Amino acid sequence: MMEEVLSSSLYTQQVKKLYKVGELLGLDNETLETLSQPERIIQVKIQIRGSDGKLKTFMGWRSQHNSALGPYKGGIRYHPNVTQDEVEALSMIMTWKNSLLLLPYGGGKGGIRVDPKKLTKEELEQLSRKFIQAIYKYLGSELDIPAPDVNTDSQTMAWYLDEYIKITGNVDFAVFTGKPVELGGIGVRLYSTGLGVATIAKEAANKFIGGIEEARVIIQGFGNVGYYAAKFLSDMGAKIVGISDSKGGVINENGIDVGKAMEIKEKTGSVTNYPEGRKVTNEELLISDCNILVPAALENVINKFNAPKIKAKLIVEGANGPLTADADEIMRQRGIVVVPDILANAGGVVGSYVEWANNKMGQIISDEEAKKLIVDRMNNAFNTLYDYHQKKLEDHDLRTAAMALAVDRVVRAMKARGLL
Ligand code: GLU
Repeated sequence: MMEEVLSSSLYTQQVKKLYKVGELLGLDNETLETLSQPERIIQVKIQIRGSDGKLKTFMGWRSQHNSALGPYKGGIRYHPNVTQDEVEALSMIMTWKNSLLLLPYGGGKGGIRVDPKKLTKEELEQLSRKFIQAIYKYLGSELDIPAPDVNTDSQTMAWYLDEYIKITGNVDFAVFTGKPVELGGIGVRLYSTGLGVATIAKEAANKFIGGIEEARVIIQGFGNVGYYAAKFLSDMGAKIVGISDSKGGVINENGIDVGKAMEIKEKTGSVTNYPEGRKVTNEELLISDCNILVPAALENVINKFNAPKIKAKLIVEGANGPLTADADEIMRQRGIVVVPDILANAGGVVGSYVEWANNKMGQIISDEEAKKLIVDRMNNAFNTLYDYHQKKLEDHDLRTAAMALAVDRVVRAMKARGLL
């Protein structure tokens, strides 16, 4: 069963979703083919000298999907399962996300096939610097602007920036976002994805399931996105009844104390050691009873095999691509609302946009202003999508409506530039 899901790649899923939207928008095959392929894909071999004296070799990619609306923008992830296919698909998702949020960016994504947990901090620094040495020519604050993603953070961005400045002599802080505040970062960027997920979940809960207060929420993944989404949702009055990380999860109907769960994860390495509640696998967690499910880990976790068993009435995609195209169709038939990744987790890149703009303007935005800009932009995008869906595409799911808005904007920009 899993083989079938894995072989159905993220790229295939994204292209299926694109063609469905293409049909609705009346786009021809030529246009859809163009939109399916990245404009440029860079593949590099990265070699570092391990602390044991041995040479270690890794593959890395940066996919630049579309630049019709502006410079490429998107994160870089470190994960043992990263492939070229995955990075290409994720860069396509970024094009739609940036377009939907009305950001002046195209879409890009990068990744290194590595298990960062197996490297020392020194080795990770070497790996990060060597990756920039290999791809720096294709980066720039008006060309391609990377950011953190799965298993990368502000420290990674600090190494990237320092290496970029050393090589190019160009002291341009806006080439990377998600940086430490000392290097032009904004305080809210650290939690802006989770804040955005919670903001959108609240709006969607008000519209579709009668509010966020006391809503029972399960969150898969306790990294940057999952943890902060859990924290903000619990501050909003929701009850977090299930959480997980890569080692498994825990369910507690009386509610999980998110701060305590983080302490336990930091101390013991996993939230599965949370003392009160029932231990579950990630598969069990996804189909456990709740009102709102937030998959905030990796792609393709909800597919045709488990989609019929999902109990939530509302799914908010914290991760990129957690539902396959088949799962989308099953949810639509079952009347389960799915708030798509390109809206739900866009708080991260909106935070990045504010950081980038602040760098360009000479650091004149306060943290409060930054936070307000992010929350307002997320709420506006939600309302625009909700209205459009109601008026124009009520028979379709929210993802189709969101992608229709996003793809249409990209196509219009390409036409105006004479690219189509
Ligand atoms: N990696 C995040 C995403 O998937 C953020 C990208 C960015 O800030 O550029 O949206």
